[in-house]
Amino acid sequence: MNCIFCKIVAGEIPANLLVNNDEVVAFPDLNPQAPTHILIVPKKHVENAAELAEVQPSALAELFKVAKKLSVDLNLPGYRTVFNTGEAAGQSVFHAHLHLLGGREFGWPPG
Ligand code: 5GP
Ligand code: ZN
Repeated sequence: MNCIFCKIVAGEIPANLLVNNDEVVAFPDLNPQAPTHILIVPKKHVENAAELAEVQPSALAELFKVAKKLSVDLNLPGYRTVFNTGEAAGQSVFHAHLHLLGGREFGWPPG
């Protein structure tokens, strides 16, 4: 399978792993949209968050636990977490990943 995040999980493509535990890895986004922009990625290849909830709900919970831990480690007063699901919503990598964004003000509604 030609999946860029599976290759990062397997160590075939370099990434600065901020977290690497049994279920997830986390690394900075290549094209950051905020001063802090980290991708938190289940090691298991599934297409999106809903599929992860079905096949490995513990990993879905772990993504949010890691987001909280990183926000504490990085002293973020608040943060935004985003799953883009489907091309129409801006998903470009079809291996589930939680965006963790922080370090600037965020508008609402999101763009
Ligand atoms: P999506 O658009 O699917 O929600 O998010 C995919 C994200 O992956 C994008 O923000 C993009 O910048 C990031 N990305 C794509 N390829 C790579 C890569 O090889 N390394 C890293 N660190 N980020 C990547
Ligand atoms: Zn994958």
